[in-house]
Amino acid sequence: MAHRQRIPLPGTASGRCALTALLGVLAAGSLGGCRTSSGHPGRPSADVVSTADRRIRVRLDKSIPQFVLRVEGGCLIDNDEGKPLLHPLSELDRSVVAPDPDDPSKLRVGEFRLPGPVVRVLPSEDGTLVYNDRHYRGYLVARREGNGFLVINVVDIESYLRGVLRGELPRYFHSETYRAQAIVSRTYALYQCYVHGRKRTWDVTADTSSQVYRGRDAEASKSNEAVAATAGIVLAWDGPQGRKIFCTYFSSTCGGMNQNVENVKGGQAPGPLRGGVACKYCKASDWYRWDTVRLHKDRITKDVKRFFVNGGYTHAEKLARIEEIRVLTKTPNGRAIRLRLIDKNGFVADMRAEDFRLLIDSGRSIKSTHFDVVTESNFIRFENGRGYGHGIGLCQHGAEGMARDGIRAGQILQHYYPGAALVKAY
Ligand SMILES: [Zn+2]
Repeated sequence: MAHRQRIPLPGTASGRCALTALLGVLAAGSLGGCRTSSGHPGRPSADVVSTADRRIRVRLDKSIPQFVLRVEGGCLIDNDEGKPLLHPLSELDRSVVAPDPDDPSKLRVGEFRLPGPVVRVLPSEDGTLVYNDRHYRGYLVARREGNGFLVINVVDIESYLRGVLRGELPRYFHSETYRAQAIVSRTYALYQCYVHGRKRTWDVTADTSSQVYRGRDAEASKSNEAVAATAGIVLAWDGPQGRKIFCTYFSSTCGGMNQNVENVKGGQAPGPLRGGVACKYCKASDWYRWDTVRLHKDRITKDVKRFFVNGGYTHAEKLARIEEIRVLTKTPNGRAIRLRLIDKNGFVADMRAEDFRLLIDSGRSIKSTHFDVVTESNFIRFENGRGYGHGIGLCQHGAEGMARDGIRAGQILQHYYPGAALVKAY
């Protein structure tokens, strides 16, 4: 019966204390600011280190009015502090979780009324969580926030990675590329935990602003094998404050050379992210070179204005039509670092090239900042484009090229992150 099923309780991840001690050394003083959009790079404070854990909190959704939940097999439902809200269930039928119509600060799970704004659903060991028709490992926390719900999947990091790799790499990529990506994604995820640990109720999102995570449905034999073969292995480097992990940025196609993280995020780059690594391996990528992109000045102006207004810049509303864009600074191999935008009244706005790229169609139109700019009367052309993505750290298509040349994951990573070491963290 359901009442006898063993329910794995949170906070009992094996090896947690030992891991905290080891990764505390690895993480101290690492550079902050990863692929999230949430802020300026900075150093994580020492207390962030103490949150090291083998679980990760993945934000599946925010501000959603309701969602559908099902648990195959038994489950416990509590308030996220261990106080049961319902008797253990032998299973939870497909149920809509929504605000209680009589008291919107409280919840309803199907037919059940719950006495607070937070619900945690813990499947039994053989149970499976189904959130909005997608299967997840671990457990789920949903809390009322504003007018909607914040929904978080708390899951062991190795299980999380099994749900990540297929979203980050094409199915046909080499198994050695998958192993390299597994190490990169693990390090990235752990780093996010340290940086964001206590500051918010989640560590990463489930989309491209962190890493694409699709839960158990995305698991496949190639990604499962890559995660198992690299279990607990992370990338670290020996910086001035000792050995530490760093934010293992990666992008699709570098187009010939990766770049220094400082060009995009500011701050001070850890050794492996100083860029300048030549890459001849991503030539097979569709984006190694890309065709000229021609954008109307009105469209560019509209997007730039929105970016400045959202950023709270004064005088943003006064920005007139942008008539010219110049590349102010570029890397030695020609990737734009800073741009100057000039409007028809002569007003000048300087900005990072990567910020500009991303504010236009989230970076889908202009694939990278490696371009030449040509101004026409009504249009601006971005020519001689190379690569796709920010070009920091691992070049995924380059990794694939190396793997197909018979190069192993460890060597691939040491190529794109010079000076980095592979360390068994747990
Ligand atoms: Zn490359």
